[in-house]
Amino acid sequence: MTDTAGLAPDTQLVHLGRDPEAFHGVVNPPVYHASTFIFRSVEHLLDTRRDRAGGAFEQFTYGREGTPTTRALEDAVTQLEGGYRAVVTSCGLGAICAALTAFLSAGDHLLIVDSLYGPVRQFCDEFLSRFGVEVTYYDPLVGEGIAALVRPRTRVIYMESPCSLTFEMTDVPAITRVARARGITTIMDNTWASPLCFQPLRHGVDVSIHAATKYISGHSDLMLGIAVCNEQAFIPVKKTASGSGYCGGPDDVYMALRGLRTLGVRMPRHQATATTIARWLQTRPEVSRVMYPALPDDPGHAIWRRDFQGASGLFGAVLKPCSDRQFAAMLDHLSLFQMGYSWGGYESLVVPTYPGTLRSARPWTDAGRGLRLHAGLEDPDDLIRDLERGFDRLARAA
Ligand SMILES: *Cc1c(COP(=O)(O)O)cnc(C)c1O
Repeated sequence: MTDTAGLAPDTQLVHLGRDPEAFHGVVNPPVYHASTFIFRSVEHLLDTRRDRAGGAFEQFTYGREGTPTTRALEDAVTQLEGGYRAVVTSCGLGAICAALTAFLSAGDHLLIVDSLYGPVRQFCDEFLSRFGVEVTYYDPLVGEGIAALVRPRTRVIYMESPCSLTFEMTDVPAITRVARARGITTIMDNTWASPLCFQPLRHGVDVSIHAATKYISGHSDLMLGIAVCNEQAFIPVKKTASGSGYCGGPDDVYMALRGLRTLGVRMPRHQATATTIARWLQTRPEVSRVMYPALPDDPGHAIWRRDFQGASGLFGAVLKPCSDRQFAAMLDHLSLFQMGYSWGGYESLVVPTYPGTLRSARPWTDAGRGLRLHAGLEDPDDLIRDLERGFDRLARAA
């Protein structure tokens, strides 16, 4: 295994989580299809039980708790983010639900950011509340003001920065300072940044979560989640993930690890193309504003610059008010920006957004319609022409 300590992230991406010498010189770790691991003896079986009971989870015991392929992906992402251990799950939402339920019990209070990934909001409102957890949504711009929202039973503060759909930047270190001083666990959805552009654990976060479905896999062909934990958080998250059955499939884990190898070339290209398109959109008369923290005039830019090493290709825009017919005329016939959920793959995508339905702490006051765009790896000029033809159709449909 190559020692990657002190190497740059691009070099680490090539070497992390693989050990050719252990596998006949094969470059990539093999895919282990396994439910069952055979024990050599009663003593060996008891040893794995002790390993698990002691919270080490070093040994392989059963497919649901991971295989060497799972461990390879977990180790790679853990090292990129400076964590202790990670837990791979069936999808990003699974990693989030496992992390939340690992730390929350009936009677506890959760502080969770407004304008977060929609299905997480649903999980809080429809499930956590049924199990007696009190949920408060906080303004993503709250900063140190989070202290005023903390209650005696606040156990978890959950962040996502930039926010889904609206892309406000949260001051992560300001929030983790408050949480640390009060013994509150912090969880952050870091999917937008990927492990390359932000490392939450280096800013005091306890659990950093990725929908590996997005940039880590990078090819829109699998579902997987990963929760990178510090030492205190690992055992609760691991126990909850395996105890709730959130395990990832072997082929998906292998493909995510394969996708990870090229993250270092994909991310800068996503950022460059997103920046080009975002700037172009700012010049268009049909657009009222663009939401992308990598732009110098974005309200979140200062925090992004201070804490992040780069940006992804996902950003938002609000159009000036237009009719349903105009909006559909633009979106229905785009050829390169196809309409679909998810993002982080090699291809460009667009979806209409309705941010007002997903927030309560800070009302959404924009009159126009929202768009979420994912800049893929296509040529940026081709992408701009696709949008330009869309705006022509919008004008003609007036
Ligand atoms: C997609 C997404 C998730 C959920 O991941 P799945 O793998 O689809 O379950 C979580 N957070 C963010 C920000 C996402 O975009």
